[in-house]
Amino acid sequence: MAKSVDFDLVDIIDIAQQLNLKLHSIQGGKQYETHCWKCEDESIHGKLTINPIKGVYRCAKCGYSGNVYTMAHDILGYKESALELLVGNKLDYQPQQRRKQALPKENSIAPIDIRHAVYTAFLKRMILHSSHRQDLRSRGLNDAIIQQKGYKSTLHWDSTVGVCYLLQKEGYSLQGIPGFYEKDGQWLFMTVPGFLIPIRDKENRIQGLQIRVDDSILKQKPNLSKYIWKSSAGKLNGTSSGAPVHIARPSKPTIPSVAYITEGPLKADIAAEYIGGTFIGTAGVGLYKQAVEAAKELGITTAPVLFDMDKLKNKDVKKAETKLLEELRKTGIDTFSIEWNPKAGKGIDDVVITHGQRFKDLIQSQVAKHTAQPVKTNPSILQKWMKSKAM
Ligand SMILES: [Zn+2]
Repeated sequence: MAKSVDFDLVDIIDIAQQLNLKLHSIQGGKQYETHCWKCEDESIHGKLTINPIKGVYRCAKCGYSGNVYTMAHDILGYKESALELLVGNKLDYQPQQRRKQALPKENSIAPIDIRHAVYTAFLKRMILHSSHRQDLRSRGLNDAIIQQKGYKSTLHWDSTVGVCYLLQKEGYSLQGIPGFYEKDGQWLFMTVPGFLIPIRDKENRIQGLQIRVDDSILKQKPNLSKYIWKSSAGKLNGTSSGAPVHIARPSKPTIPSVAYITEGPLKADIAAEYIGGTFIGTAGVGLYKQAVEAAKELGITTAPVLFDMDKLKNKDVKKAETKLLEELRKTGIDTFSIEWNPKAGKGIDDVVITHGQRFKDLIQSQVAKHTAQPVKTNPSILQKWMKSKAM
């Protein structure tokens, strides 16, 4: 008879230590950070977070997640060795279902049209606070674009019971919509003080919501990320968001065969408007596979990559960029990375705001070389300008 391993009885931290993972305690020992063995992140303490209470881990950089068994299996390489470590005996493995039943049931994600309808109705009932409007304006977005993109404020923690009640009264089911979950018989959307950024697909439908957390909250809670994906996994009737890729379309028509790739949905929105092109905004530089998938789905032939210029100092970013370029080329998409002097701005969103039209011309001239579009500007003059002026 095959015995089974009860993962509930195995301490993931105990196993992590036996596997020689360097652990760094965070949140007063409630969670631990270590280096991800999938994406080989080289940050100080590591980007992979282990949650000992739930017995699971997740890498913030590449999105890789699993439990104590997958951890042991990945590192030791063999099922047998992993099980030996977990139970101290050689056993036949039988998947253990108990943990899944013990945790609140997670819903499968609702189809995109349903999610879009619910998020649209939800955002309609939310307001944009003047402080957030001011923030968005200072990032170079005008009121018409702010309205069109649908940014809204979440002023408090988990304070959306009223809105959720109204949505249900209007006939919307909140099941299977990432971010929504049930608490004490009432539905709510998980919020943190900040503003919501709708994450859209290529047809401009809302796939999910990301939150830009207010700086005042980030100061109080340094472990929070600046941008949070509104998943409600682990909550009653909650749904995991995955890490969808944002497709930012500019308000004016653009060349359909080109899409730029950058990190971050908000940055993509801003850059799309200024450059006048479609942008693919990933949730992290490590998530290059999703970016490649999105590029394929868009059916583009050219994908210039515009990562933050901290890649000059950050080896992880540079490595991720190289992988992205390689993978895109494998699928037959023409790609190249566009770089600028970091003094002109760290991210593409900073540069386009500060250097506007001239930077746009520089980018378009580089793209024209790859797409055989007529060159409208003289790149040598622009490059000279980039060297003398922007730097
Ligand atoms: Zn990773």
